[in-house]
Amino acid sequence: MTESDQPQSPATRVVTGGRRAEWTGGVVNVPVWRASTILYDSVAHLRATGAADTHHTLFYGRRGTPTQWSLADALTQLEPGAFATLLYPSGVSAVTTALLAYLSPGDHLLLPDSAYDPTRHFATGMLARMGIATTFYDPTIGAGIADLMTPQTRVLFMESPGSLTFEVQDVPTMTAVARARGITTLLDNTWATPLLFPAMAHGVDVTIMACTKYVVGHSDAMLGSATAVESHWGRLRDATYQLGLHVGPDDAALGARGLRTMAVRLKQHGESSIRIARWLEQQPGVARVLHPALPGCPGHDLFVRDFRGSAGLFAFVLDGGSDAARSALIDGLALFGIGYSWGGFESLAVPIDPQRYRTATRWQAEGPLIRLQIGLEDADDLIADLDAGLARFRALA
Ligand SMILES: *Cc1c(COP(=O)(O)O)cnc(C)c1O
Repeated sequence: MTESDQPQSPATRVVTGGRRAEWTGGVVNVPVWRASTILYDSVAHLRATGAADTHHTLFYGRRGTPTQWSLADALTQLEPGAFATLLYPSGVSAVTTALLAYLSPGDHLLLPDSAYDPTRHFATGMLARMGIATTFYDPTIGAGIADLMTPQTRVLFMESPGSLTFEVQDVPTMTAVARARGITTLLDNTWATPLLFPAMAHGVDVTIMACTKYVVGHSDAMLGSATAVESHWGRLRDATYQLGLHVGPDDAALGARGLRTMAVRLKQHGESSIRIARWLEQQPGVARVLHPALPGCPGHDLFVRDFRGSAGLFAFVLDGGSDAARSALIDGLALFGIGYSWGGFESLAVPIDPQRYRTATRWQAEGPLIRLQIGLEDADDLIADLDAGLARFRALA
């Protein structure tokens, strides 16, 4: 199952991964297998298949076909140390299934205060209703996480950099503390992907991605993944099967198509985002830029130590100014769409208000925030668009 310890570089693996001859049947991209019923040769064949581990065996449509297995396998191969991957109908369903796989009533969960809002909501909503307690922690806590662990703590969840505010976490230190106490570690690695942050090499047990973002890469499908080390695979698989989660073959094929160009896209997203972030830092009206690759971002030193490059999503803080001035900046942008999600080929800008989602820490800033997804347009064109936007902001601020 695992082919993740091959010596090739990640840029090669996104091209070659998951393209087993028995799955492609000789074409380049794995065909779309549409299936619910799988037909067996005989009763004996049917019984033998049902009794076996059906991961990567045709059994019933819900357990997947070569179309889903191929993408899952390609994602496993990107993550050195990984054993296997399952796909989910969205990033959120990957997060919630992974949490359900390792938590039971009475257990305690540690979640960063910077976590993606629907992840927070699942902890305070359904998990709380099931008798699972959550402590939110300062994402910059590092080794101090040990002080928040109780005998009931079963899962340490991390998201690095954090949603909206981009704090980089000390993942290797925190996974070492957790492992010494037998606590499972989960990481939402959507921003970096294994190409920029190989999480299992830093001690993570289960890595989660909203493949909706960089894997799909074209803003036209929803998809999630969870990848486990061998010791954590069984529980993840069982929870996923029990919940009956399934990804349609067309969406899996879109994910596989996106993956083939992910390395070159990420390179351009990263390069343009750093260039635009540095430019923004110099502009009147901008108080601060929250980009992990820039020194002002909390955890920038950890980013330099642990990451292999930058992605294209970051935020900036305006220097004072009203919500209306911020809206004027965003509304007039020609090249940045106004919309949720990110990771596609096109640029996006949204107003963000992190103070609404904080409980363990207090978010304080000089003014309103804007989050930018830097797409694959020419960076100079994007800068000109933002320049005109900042002029609109300053006229009203
Ligand atoms: C978007 C996102 C998710 C959820 O993914 P969906 O596919 O939209 O459900 C999870 N985590 C992070 C960090 C995200 O940005």
